[in-house]
Amino acid sequence: MLANIKYWEEFAQKNGFAIPHFNVWNAEMLMGVIDAAEETKAPIIISFGTGFIGNTIFEEFAPMMVSMAKNASVPVITHWDHGRSMEIVQNAYNYGMNSVMRDASACPFEENIKLTKEVVDYFHPLGVPVEAELGHVGNETIYEEALSGYHYTEPSQAAEFVDRTQCDSLAVAIGNVHGVYSSEPKIAFDVLEKVRNAVDIPIVLHGASGIADHDIKTSISLGISKINIHTELCLAAMDAIRKNVNASFLELERSVRAAVKNRAIEKITLFGAEGKSPQ
Ligand SMILES: [Zn+2]
Repeated sequence: MLANIKYWEEFAQKNGFAIPHFNVWNAEMLMGVIDAAEETKAPIIISFGTGFIGNTIFEEFAPMMVSMAKNASVPVITHWDHGRSMEIVQNAYNYGMNSVMRDASACPFEENIKLTKEVVDYFHPLGVPVEAELGHVGNETIYEEALSGYHYTEPSQAAEFVDRTQCDSLAVAIGNVHGVYSSEPKIAFDVLEKVRNAVDIPIVLHGASGIADHDIKTSISLGISKINIHTELCLAAMDAIRKNVNASFLELERSVRAAVKNRAIEKITLFGAEGKSPQ
């Protein structure tokens, strides 16, 4: 069933778990994460973003996302990740995404507030919640280099940012980065705790692929309510391809779907989201 992200993030926040967010950009990834949600009776977020348009035509893929979300027996949210402009998130909404992220985190504080608020003002009358980002979760490939110039979320700015933008959830930069970590992630739990104490709305962890399970659990205990996974689904798919390289293409794609499902089940369980779907 198509579900509301605000309801589920707040439910997760109250009940001490995190709702899993899975980036999907082909049929096997989409079917794999829906299989996982069905099997574990978990609410999930399926998400697309600009980074994937080189492979997949969003406007053609979105109807499949929406249809599978509607037909699932568990709550599924359709989300646009890291929207870099108003036009991009409007297009996402027009093709059936019922939740958007406006990411202006590369901009200075005042500009980030202005650009985020424009999107909030447009979408709230339509009933669409908006996620924003304060601090900046980068895409650097060398983790130590990423940390040397890292833009942590500034806890003293968090309350003002949320108050002035009226965003519905807040993505934080606490030592997390996108992609594969080239060395062990160092999560700044002190920053997370200060942000958690400064704002009431749900807090989101991006770049969670490769963060150790115990650090994920600590993050959830300190108030993270939505966790984004993409890279680990890709790594699971690539493992399946390597193992089944001599199989037929049909069998190979089935193995990808199964591998994505299994990795998604691991994350759903780790985040405490299993069994949270209404019976
Ligand atoms: Zn992200």
